[in-house]
Amino acid sequence: MRGPPTSGAPPVSGAQSYSQFGQGETQNGPPPMGAPPQRPPVSQTYTPGAVNLSGPQPPFSQQFGAPPVSMQQMTNQMASMQVGSTAPSPAGPGYAPPVSQPPFSTAQVPPGPTQSYGGPLPPTQPSFSRPLLPTSQPSTFPAGPPPTSTPSQLPGVMQPQPPVSQPSPYHSGPHPTSTGFPPQVGAPPRPPFAGMQGPPMAPQGPPLASQGPPMVQANHVPPTQPGMPPGPISASMSGPPPQPGMQGYPPQQNGEHQCFYWVCFFFCSWIKACQSFIGWYFFSTQIQVIEDDKANKGSEPFTTGVRGQAPPLVTTKFQVKDQGNASPRYIRCTAYNMPCNSDMAKQSQVPLAAVIKPLAPLPPDETPPYLVDHGESGPIRCNRCKAYMCPYMQFIEGGRRFQCGFCSCVTEVPPHYFQHLDHTGKRVDCYDRPELSMGSYEFMATVDYCKNNKIPQPPAFIFLIDVSYNAVKNGMVGIVCQELKTLLDYLPRENPDVESNIRVGFVTYNKVLHFYNVKASLAQPQMMVVSDVADMFVPLLDGFLVNVSESRVVIESLLDQIPEMFADTRETETVFGPVIQAGLEALKAADCAGKLFVFHSSLPIAEAPGKLKNREDKKLVGTDKEKSLFQPQVSFYNTLAKECVVQGCCVDLFLFPNQYVDVATLGVVPTSTGGSIYKYTYFQASSDQERFLNDLRRDVQKPMGFDAVMRVRTSTGIRATDFFGSFYMSNTTDVELAGLDCDKTVTVEFRHDDKLSEETGALMQCAVLYTSCSGQRRLRIHNMAVNCCSQLADLYRNCETDTVINFFAKYAYRSVLSSPIKNVRDSLVNQCAQILACYRKNCASPSSAGQLILPECMKLLPVYLNCVLKSDVLQPGADISLDDRAYLRQLVSTMDVSESHVFFYPRLLPLQKLDVESISLPVAVRDSEERLSRGGVYLLENGLNIFLWVGVNAQQELLQNIFGTPAFGQIDPNMTSLPALDNPFSKRLREIIESVRAQRSRYMKLMVVKQEDKLELIFKHFLVEDKSNNGGASYVDFLCHMHKEIRQLLS
Ligand SMILES: [Zn+2]
Repeated sequence: MRGPPTSGAPPVSGAQSYSQFGQGETQNGPPPMGAPPQRPPVSQTYTPGAVNLSGPQPPFSQQFGAPPVSMQQMTNQMASMQVGSTAPSPAGPGYAPPVSQPPFSTAQVPPGPTQSYGGPLPPTQPSFSRPLLPTSQPSTFPAGPPPTSTPSQLPGVMQPQPPVSQPSPYHSGPHPTSTGFPPQVGAPPRPPFAGMQGPPMAPQGPPLASQGPPMVQANHVPPTQPGMPPGPISASMSGPPPQPGMQGYPPQQNGEHQCFYWVCFFFCSWIKACQSFIGWYFFSTQIQVIEDDKANKGSEPFTTGVRGQAPPLVTTKFQVKDQGNASPRYIRCTAYNMPCNSDMAKQSQVPLAAVIKPLAPLPPDETPPYLVDHGESGPIRCNRCKAYMCPYMQFIEGGRRFQCGFCSCVTEVPPHYFQHLDHTGKRVDCYDRPELSMGSYEFMATVDYCKNNKIPQPPAFIFLIDVSYNAVKNGMVGIVCQELKTLLDYLPRENPDVESNIRVGFVTYNKVLHFYNVKASLAQPQMMVVSDVADMFVPLLDGFLVNVSESRVVIESLLDQIPEMFADTRETETVFGPVIQAGLEALKAADCAGKLFVFHSSLPIAEAPGKLKNREDKKLVGTDKEKSLFQPQVSFYNTLAKECVVQGCCVDLFLFPNQYVDVATLGVVPTSTGGSIYKYTYFQASSDQERFLNDLRRDVQKPMGFDAVMRVRTSTGIRATDFFGSFYMSNTTDVELAGLDCDKTVTVEFRHDDKLSEETGALMQCAVLYTSCSGQRRLRIHNMAVNCCSQLADLYRNCETDTVINFFAKYAYRSVLSSPIKNVRDSLVNQCAQILACYRKNCASPSSAGQLILPECMKLLPVYLNCVLKSDVLQPGADISLDDRAYLRQLVSTMDVSESHVFFYPRLLPLQKLDVESISLPVAVRDSEERLSRGGVYLLENGLNIFLWVGVNAQQELLQNIFGTPAFGQIDPNMTSLPALDNPFSKRLREIIESVRAQRSRYMKLMVVKQEDKLELIFKHFLVEDKSNNGGASYVDFLCHMHKEIRQLLS
C-alpha cells in the first residue's frame, strides 16, 4: 500500500472565519463587478507611449564607432579610467583605489514623508490552525519500461549541440589572452595604466565575492534606516578628462573623454585586466546587495504600516506583519514613491507597476487573511467607485458616513455597520475589524456576486489522458493512472478534516475520445466512445462526474484497466481541440466551474477542430517573421479559450513531446484560463518520473480559486492601464481568471491620469472575486498605499529593481508577439539607459561625464537587464527549440518576483567548504565560469533546473562524501538523485537540495555536470555573467555598452 503523495502543496493560506463580525441587514447597493468605476474627469491626456519601449536610440547590436587610433591613446584612456565610488582623482601611478574613499555622496535629498497607516496590529487575533497536507515517502513505480539510455537533455531545453561560436556584438578584434587583473586583498588594486607595462597580475581571477576585500564594504552604502535618506550613489565608473601634459593624447570628437568602454574594447592587451576588474567590482556589489539585505532586513519582521517603505528583497527571508498594507508576498511594486505627475514619470522612464499574487501561500508563522462577513447585504463599498471597505476609508460626521480614499465620494454607513469614533476620528472598533486595520482580508460574497445570481456548485476536476502510441510507450499513461489512485484523496479542501467536495471525471483519447461512467453503483466502469470529434458532446451525464469516496472502487478499477486497454495501441494520431471541448461541455452540463488536467504527447494532426500542422521553421528566427512563431497558428483556440473563461473552465496542460508540438498554439487555452503548462521533453519514466509526479501532486493539491474576476482600483491620479499574466480580458478593467492558483501572479501597470499629491500618496485596491474549492463565493482584498514624490531623487531612492526586471521581462516577452525581437531588445536597452541617464542628470551631484553613476536601488539593473536580453526568448542559441522558447515565454508571464529573479540570475552555491553544522545556505557566488574552482563542487538552480557541477580536481574525500566514490571518472553523469550516504556532508547537501526545491513551485530535476563533460555546455548557458554561445554579451561588455548609451543621452 502506497503512502499519500509526497510533494507537499504549499501552505494553505485560506481565509479564516472571523466570527465576531455579525450579520446585519441594510442596503448598500448591489455590487456588480462588471460596472466600470466612474472616474473623475481626466485632466491630462494619457499617452500610451509614456513608458517607452521603442525609442530612437541606436540599436543595441550595432557596430560601434571608430576605435581610438593608437595604443598610446588607449594607454591614456586607461590612465584616466577610474572605477569605484570615489570622485574623480588625477590619473597617474599610485592614484588611490576606490576602496579607501568614502561613498560618493551626491543628491542626498531628504526622504519623502512617511505616514503611518492602520496603526498597530489588532490586539487579539484568533489562533489559526493550518490544515496539514499529506506527506509521505516517494513512491516507486514498477510500471513504465526502463529506458535503455538516458538522453542528456536539459529539462525544457533541447539536446545540447556543439557550441556555435558567434562573434560577440561587442568584440571586433581577437579575444584577449592576457590574464585577469585581480584586486589584491589588502592592497589597493592598481589600474592598468602604468605605461605599457602591465600591473602585476596573478593568473587566477579576482577574489570570491563572498570573501571580497574590505574595499567592497567600503563602497557599500549603509542600509536605509526608516526616516533616513539612503545613500543614493552606489558606484561610479569614471573616465575623468584627459590629463593635460599626457603625451600623444588625440583630440576627442566631442571634446569629452571616451568612457573606458573603448578601453575595454580595443586595448587588447589590457581588455581582460580591465574587464576582470570591473567585473570584480560590480559583481562583488551584486552579491553584496543580497547579503546586506539579508543581514539588515532579515532579522526584524517587516511591518506594512509605513507607507512608501520598500520591503526586503525576495532573496531575504523575513516575516511580515500586516499593519494596513498588503504583504509583499501579495504585492510588490516597482516604485514605492510614485512621481506626482506624468511628466516626471515620463522623464524618469521608471515603470510604475505592481506584481500581484492574490492567493500567495504564506509561511506558517504568518496569519492568513481573515474572512469578514458583512451579512446579507454584502461587503460595504463606496457608492461611486465601488471600492471595498478598507483602512483608507475616512469616517466622518461622528461615524455616520465615510469618505472614500479612492474617489473622495461620501457614502452613508449602513445602520448595522455604524460605530462611534474616538477622539482621533478613528472608529473605536477599528482594530477589531480586519477591513479597517489590515492590508489583506476576505469578504464573504453574497448571491449578488454569483453567476446568474445562483450559489455556485462545487467545482470539478476532469482528467483527460492521451493514450496514443507515444504516450503509452514512454510510460506516461501508466504513471498517471497509478498516481491518480492515491492523489484523488488529496484534492484541495479548506478543512483538512472534511472530504473535498470536488467531483472528478475521466476521459482518454487518441483521435477519438473515450468517456467513462464511474458511477458508484456500477460493478465495473463503462466506456463510451465518441468518434465524431467535429461536434463534441458528452455522451453521459449521470456517472461522469463523481465523488471520489463514493466511487472509489470503480475509479480504481478504471485506473487499473486504462494502461492495459491501450498497451498495444498502434494509434499515433491525436486530437486536442475536441479534448478541451469535451471537458468544457462536461462542466457546462454539470453547471459548475473546474479544472481540466490534460496529459498530451504530440502535435494534433488528426482531422478535427483545432487540427495543427508542423510549422516549425528555424529559418524565421532573427527575421521580422519570427514573431509569427509565438502566435497561435489557428484562431480556433482563442475562441475556445473565451468559452472556457465564461464557464470557469481552467486548463492545465502536461506535455510529453518527442518533437515539435506547437506549444505556442496548444498553450493558448491554458494561458488564457489561468492554467499552467508543464513540459517534459523526451519523457522517460526512469529519469523524469520524479519530476513529473511532484509537479502533478502539487498541481492537483494546491489551493486555488475558480471562476475568478480581478479588479484593481486606484486613487485619483493614477489608473491601471495594462495587465500581464495568464488570464482573459473582455473589457479594459476586469481580469478574468477561469482558475487562479496560489502560484499565479498578475502584473499591473499604472499610468497617471492626473496629478498625485504627496500628502495622500497613491492607493490601490486589488479585489479578486472567486469561488473557493468548497464552492463558497468570496472576495479577497489587497490594499496597497505608496508615497508620491515631487523630487526624482525620492523616486530613485525607493525602487525595487527585481520588480522592475519582472515587469520588463513580461513586457518584452509579450512584445515579441507583435514586434521584431531586435526592436524589443533595443527598446529595453533604451528605456534602461533613459532611467539611468535621468538619474545621472537630475539626482547625482556634478561629476565627470565619464562616470557611470547608478542609484543605490538600481545598481543591479544593468546586470539583471543583460540576463533578460540574453535569455532564450530574446536571444536564442542554435540549440533551443521553438517550442521551448514559446514555453518559457508563457512561463515567465505568470512568475512572481522571486521566481523571475532566480530564473534570470540563477543561484550558484559553492559547496566545497560547506559548513555541515550550519542551517543556512552557503553564500552564493557570481554566475561566472571564473568563479568555479577546479577543485570545487557547486550547486546551480534557476527555479526550473538544478545542477551539481563537479570540478575535475575535486578532492577524493569530497567525492567520496557526495557520491560514494573517490574517483571523478566513476561519477555517473546520468544520476538524478544523490546516493543517501551516511556522512554529515552527504546529509547536509541533500538537505540543501531539498530546501532549494521546496522554495520553487516546480520540481527541479537534479543533473550532475562533470567539468569538461559534454553536459557542461548546458550548464555554462546559466553562467549569465559570461559571454554566451548565442552572442549574449558578458556583463562587463554590456555595462560598457550601457554606459555609452547613457553618455549619448546625456550629451
Ligand atoms: Zn470611491
